[in-house]
Amino acid sequence: MNMHQKEMLAANITAVRGKIAEAAQRVGRRPEEITLVAVSKTKPLEIVKLAYELGITHFGENRVQEAVPKIAAFHLSDIHWHMIGHLQKNKVGKVIGQFECIHSIDSLDLAETLNRHAASFNLTGGQRQPVLLQVNISGETSKEGIEPDTVISLTRQITTLEHLEIQGLMTLAPLVDNPEKARPVFRALRELRDRLHNEVPECSWQHLSMGMTDDYQVAIEEGATIVRIGRAIFGERIKKGTSQ
Ligand SMILES: *Cc1c(COP(=O)(O)O)cnc(C)c1O
Repeated sequence: MNMHQKEMLAANITAVRGKIAEAAQRVGRRPEEITLVAVSKTKPLEIVKLAYELGITHFGENRVQEAVPKIAAFHLSDIHWHMIGHLQKNKVGKVIGQFECIHSIDSLDLAETLNRHAASFNLTGGQRQPVLLQVNISGETSKEGIEPDTVISLTRQITTLEHLEIQGLMTLAPLVDNPEKARPVFRALRELRDRLHNEVPECSWQHLSMGMTDDYQVAIEEGATIVRIGRAIFGERIKKGTSQ
């Protein structure tokens, strides 16, 4: 860690916060409505700590085996960890009580497994584990997520699981050269959320987790309440294996 890196990180965070505020203001929203989750996957703990010193309090990780040691080493009371990547059933036991929110619920099977683990884990004050349902809006076969047509019926089943709390929806937009091309995906997620709000009113539906480095401003214009930003904050990731 050198001074140069810290200055770069500070400048990146300031720039991202500025663009979040601009996008919010363009559509008459307040910037405080939007939670910035800094995606720290593949980044060492020293960088995470530096980002925290620069005011970042929400961090996103996509792999359980990478996230768990980071959380164990860095879990101050004002730090919030988000699980944003695909969750394998055999790793579910490790995530309960670790993450403020799990963004990647994409099947009943996964929800039931998570619910069973949450039941045996004593969450503070009988709290439920907050989760988001990941929806494959773009329909790309390469993407995880629930088919939009089946979200309502799946939601009804998941709401019967007493240790989970559905708080909203998450999606990944397709990789496109122009962020405007992602707009229909974000808009469709918002419209789906509005439908769910009517159909399943017992959930809050307060969160739309959408928008990454290349498209977060468009996502905010379309109603994102959580943006998940990696490269614009931490710089390019070194490609290795399955991490994106
Ligand atoms: C890596 C990742 C991000 C962040 O992507 P950037 O393009 O670096 O901003 C957001 N969401 C998920 C699910 C990711 O895996």
